[in-house]
Amino acid sequence: MIEGYPEIPKTIGELKAAPQIPDWSAMRESWDWDDVWEELDTPDGLINKAYECIDRHADGARANKAAIIWQSASNEIETYTYSDMKKQTNKVANALKSIGIEKGERVFLLADRIPELYFSCFGILKIGAIMAPLFSAFGPEPIKDRIDRAEGCTVITTPKLLPKINAIRDQLPSLRNVIVINHREGGDVADSDISYSSIVDPASEEFEIEKTGAEDWSVMHFTSGTTGLPKGAAHVHSAIVSQYATGKYVLDFNDDDIYWCTADPGWVTGTSYGMFAPFSNGVTSVIDEGGFGAKRWYEVVQNHKVTVWYTAPTAIRLLMRSGAKVAREHDLSSLRYVMSVGEPLNPEGVVWGIEAFDLPIHDNWWQTETGAIMCANYPSMPIRPGSMGRPFPGVHVTVVDDEGNEIAEAETEGALVVKPGWPSQFRTYWNDQERYDSRFINGWYYTGDRAKMDADGYIWFLGRDDDVINTAGHLVSPFEVESALIEHEAVAEAGVIGKPDEVAMEVVKAFVTLSDGFEESPELLRALNRHCRTRLGPAVAPREIAVIDILPKTRSGKIMRRLLKARELGLDEGDTSTLEDD
Ligand code: ATP
Ligand code: MG
Repeated sequence: MIEGYPEIPKTIGELKAAPQIPDWSAMRESWDWDDVWEELDTPDGLINKAYECIDRHADGARANKAAIIWQSASNEIETYTYSDMKKQTNKVANALKSIGIEKGERVFLLADRIPELYFSCFGILKIGAIMAPLFSAFGPEPIKDRIDRAEGCTVITTPKLLPKINAIRDQLPSLRNVIVINHREGGDVADSDISYSSIVDPASEEFEIEKTGAEDWSVMHFTSGTTGLPKGAAHVHSAIVSQYATGKYVLDFNDDDIYWCTADPGWVTGTSYGMFAPFSNGVTSVIDEGGFGAKRWYEVVQNHKVTVWYTAPTAIRLLMRSGAKVAREHDLSSLRYVMSVGEPLNPEGVVWGIEAFDLPIHDNWWQTETGAIMCANYPSMPIRPGSMGRPFPGVHVTVVDDEGNEIAEAETEGALVVKPGWPSQFRTYWNDQERYDSRFINGWYYTGDRAKMDADGYIWFLGRDDDVINTAGHLVSPFEVESALIEHEAVAEAGVIGKPDEVAMEVVKAFVTLSDGFEESPELLRALNRHCRTRLGPAVAPREIAVIDILPKTRSGKIMRRLLKARELGLDEGDTSTLEDD
């Protein structure tokens, strides 16, 4: 437990329905992945993500249920039922076949969050091709690099983003087709390109899904690039089994939920939990094309009566910055459950949820490579603020020592590992099998994160392998120091690194951005110092604190400590393709 943050009792009483995991320990004991397979419809052992997510519902009782409530950047609303989704994705599948795209080929998506992005994603899966999403804010170089490494044959994009492709296409010998979506506008495209509507509009609404098996490729996602070069993690169709199960048991879906995942499909959360988990569970998803804005977001929740909300620490810190009062000015009473992923969620963020919407925020942990949530705070379990919760019932996540032995002693730091074999485990880093193999040692998958487990099996994130600091014999978690710093009213965000030191090996250095209305001064720095020494003790408190205007972050909002360190030490910055624009 982190001092000052007592356990938050379980929230069952606040739930409108009984939680999907009433008893975590019992479910863990009796877990059998075969039971989940049974709940899905896998005719003749074939499995296709698009079938599980769309056709299964469109052919059954959910045909006329909304799959997507889409809100455009300028606030128009379009609703698509599961039946609409089936027709649209069939049309895309036929269109892609008509231009000669084959099973196993890589089809890239570069579009804002428009309905055709979602139709295309499932159309690609229906023909058995590999769908590879890109974040629409990428510049031409990162786009080129990713398409090149995956030898992509096709890019599906929009007129607005097309110039980025045109800037690099002559450097991409594998790229045969550029498909341009004009959402509603219509209009001509260049001779070298294919208009989406010209091939999709005339296509048939009937399509027979490619006969994909459990181990056929489905999705390739590039990692966020927080620690280095982004890697192309490739997944197979059976990943849907984990995504369905975690949707049901972690996102706690009920049939009448209105769910909103704020992540862009350019990142894995935007596909695993923006598409696969909600659709495979047959719930209704809100998709907002627009960007972040505290008021806009609260209006989305209020207007669409969102019940389950999945977002990220960086967004929560921005909402915190705008104040709980802004939240209280909206009717957010539809919300029953809020979750966060992507970075450690500071305890301050967990409890702020109570202040803003009477709900603590539930942190959970996973990676691009794991394809689905691996450990979580569940609605039926007390929250220990600062902990990522307990393993998903069907997954063995634990902490091991340097020899790969599970650490029996509570609160002892080690490598965070997962026992291989869960359905959504990635199957390779595309064209980099060696790197993939290097992650599997001693019978474990090494996640690259460090953590500790408490006596009750709650897992506490400490940092990335390279981020944990060793100062005068003490192991210091940058996350713990950052969490202490942001408790101070003057600090908006913090990034903490270890700086080489002759005597102490490393010393702790903190970079902070200030909340509105605060200015840097010697008094403020002294106050921050005092605060840290009181909270953390002199051995762990930062030796140096520097105020900066912005923290370097990935476009998905993760603090890039390696850049803070490289800049501090005057080293090469390495791969910065996912760095957010200043
Ligand atoms: P790269 O692998 O390219 O360096 P990345 O690791 O940030 O980038 P992702 O797969 O998007 O790419 O992120 C997974 C990582 O994010 C985890 O390994 C972990 O370090 C961090 N993370 C995600 N969720 C949490 C969480 N709830 N608490 C702590 N860390 C988290
Ligand atoms: Mg990673």
